[in-house]
Amino acid sequence: MLRAFMSYYKPYKALFAFTLACGILAGALELAFPLAINYVIDNLLPSGNWQLILWGGIGLFTMYILNGGFHYVVTYWGHKLGINIETDMRRDLFSHIQNQSVQYFDNTKTGHLMSRLTNDLMDIGEIAHHGPEELAISIMTLLGAFGIMLTINWKLAILTFVLVPFLILFTYYFGKKMSVAMTMLFGSIADFNSRVENNVTGIRVVKAFVNEKHEMDKFQTNNNHFRFSKLASYKIMAKHTAFSQILMKFLLIFVLLCGTWFVIQGELTYGEFVAFVLLANVMVGPIQKLNAVMEMYPKGIAGFRRYLDLLNMKPEQEDRPDAIHVDQVKGEITYKDVVFGYENKDKVLKGVNFSIKAGETVALVGPSGAGKTTITSLLPRFYEVESGEILIDQTSIHDLTMASLREQIGVVQQDVFLFDASIRENIAYGKLGATDEEIWKAAEQAQMTKIIQSLPEGLDTLIGERGVKLSGGQKQRLSIARMFLKNPAILILDEATSALDTETESAIQQALAELSVGRTTIVIAHRLATIKEADRIFVVTENGIEEEGTHQELLQQKGTYSRLHQAQFDFDYAGA
Ligand code: ADP
Ligand code: MG
Repeated sequence: MLRAFMSYYKPYKALFAFTLACGILAGALELAFPLAINYVIDNLLPSGNWQLILWGGIGLFTMYILNGGFHYVVTYWGHKLGINIETDMRRDLFSHIQNQSVQYFDNTKTGHLMSRLTNDLMDIGEIAHHGPEELAISIMTLLGAFGIMLTINWKLAILTFVLVPFLILFTYYFGKKMSVAMTMLFGSIADFNSRVENNVTGIRVVKAFVNEKHEMDKFQTNNNHFRFSKLASYKIMAKHTAFSQILMKFLLIFVLLCGTWFVIQGELTYGEFVAFVLLANVMVGPIQKLNAVMEMYPKGIAGFRRYLDLLNMKPEQEDRPDAIHVDQVKGEITYKDVVFGYENKDKVLKGVNFSIKAGETVALVGPSGAGKTTITSLLPRFYEVESGEILIDQTSIHDLTMASLREQIGVVQQDVFLFDASIRENIAYGKLGATDEEIWKAAEQAQMTKIIQSLPEGLDTLIGERGVKLSGGQKQRLSIARMFLKNPAILILDEATSALDTETESAIQQALAELSVGRTTIVIAHRLATIKEADRIFVVTENGIEEEGTHQELLQQKGTYSRLHQAQFDFDYAGA
């Protein structure tokens, strides 16, 4: 773990060396003060020479100014180092999360990921700065103080230093306890985030069921757990502070008493005595810093450990080393004996076989839950087949790079996901950097020009989180415009118009018909009326592709399709 941590210093070697050097100089000056004062008291004072004493004062003051400068550098540039490292870690983590498979996101709570990226890494920057640097400086200052004390009076020096290991052991003990408390705290913050995220996303459901009280109770459970974890850590912190204060003062009084005794014995001059007391005081600084680092360390390390856990998890999917990048496929699709099931569940697809010619439009119909969406999710490798093979233009999709494969496929779904941004940005998501001209053209093809023009801010209108400020039909048009810009060779329309009213549906059908021109298109539709025009229709049931043919052919077969059709016809007729 230490090596992983240290590797983050690599890009900042110079910055690290610079702050460390300034820190060491500051430490050295810290040690020089007691010596200078020792000199003033024992040599300058008895001489009675005012001019010399004045120069001594000026010299001391200069030392303090220098010391101030060094402290500035260590504090500012040192923290800069820390925050740079923290930023790098966030970057790595975000990029790592982006590359996880869809399966991973199915099983991971958004709130937990949020905490990993924000809170968990919050203290690592502090550690990155204070950790190695202050550790080095503190230890050097302590050793330096000890060395100087030895030269002044070795007996008193050893007496003083007998206490130091106890102080350090004591800090270590508290650090360990703190680490446990912090891991618990981070876990509870993650739960907390997750709860809020869930509540906000589902607020319409909460309100519709009037379950605010119930949500409040659940929130309060998390909230109390958070309070409990936090209190536990404060208790450790309080004990630590109290004990270390007492021990520190004990050290000073101990030196004071022993020193007095040595002076009375005539083994120590007054100047040396003052220097000793001042040196003991100088030691308090590094010891307190060590304490602070030890206190911060568990926090940072608890976060860093959680960070590494996530970072060391390999993405489930990776390109083969010899994967091919395709620029433009024709769009021929073949499924050969495809078997697939979601984690720990029964197989959803138990041997699916079909092939679609380039440019053909094929409709998948069948009962809900039969696996239609699942079949199409395997094509862009959102999930991986368990056995069997999927080919595009006779090449296995596993032989293509994932990025170039996904470039070729466009999916329009029932529940459109839009980003909390302007209409322009949402359309241009299909082709980053698209010009306004291209965006307007796509909007026109998706039949949404009028809608955009009627909005006060046109393309710059913000559409809210997940596009809440647009109607279902408007959102669907936007997602179609986006697809015109993406211009994929293969198009998947998964119940794209199911949630729309009949009037909007027929307008969007037109846009979709235009979109599918010249592309291999797989349409999943609930309403059979919308797929009559398909070149071929596949009936998907739990047994795989049960029937296949044109609308007319399938009606004549009098099988599942004709039964489905009859049922819907009756329903529509009754409803009309
Ligand atoms: P259809 O689109 O035909 O209605 P789906 O392909 O969506 O059916 O679902 C097929 C089966 O797979 C269902 O039983 C469903 O519960 C299950 N399923 C769908 N998506 C997931 C998922 N992300 N994780 C686990 N199970 C899933
Ligand atoms: Mg579906």
